[in-house]
Amino acid sequence: MELKDIQKKILDMAKEKGWGTKPEEIIFAEKIALLHSEVSETLEAYRHSNMAGSDGVAEELADVMMRTLQLAGIYNIDLEQEIEKKLIEDSTRDWSQDQLYKDRDKRNKPTS
Ligand SMILES: [Mg+2]
Repeated sequence: MELKDIQKKILDMAKEKGWGTKPEEIIFAEKIALLHSEVSETLEAYRHSNMAGSDGVAEELADVMMRTLQLAGIYNIDLEQEIEKKLIEDSTRDWSQDQLYKDRDKRNKPTS
């Protein structure tokens, strides 16, 4: 099954359950908080060495993906396309420590 097919199933379920499928039906910050809660549940599962069981890392990562796909779908974001763009961007980015420090120093520089 492709990502778009999975996303459609998630949005179909969101519509059926009343979880929102349009920007005006959701609170963006709440969706981000719920996404974050799934990331935290993943960490908790890992801390309890639960990789593949019920509420384990694998299941929680699926929750993260599902909430991400729902939110992207609500805003008509093509995640496959965005991931492909990011892969190219990240593969050509300078990840050296020198560049990372330069980026950090640029961010921390006072604006005035
Ligand atoms: Mg969960």
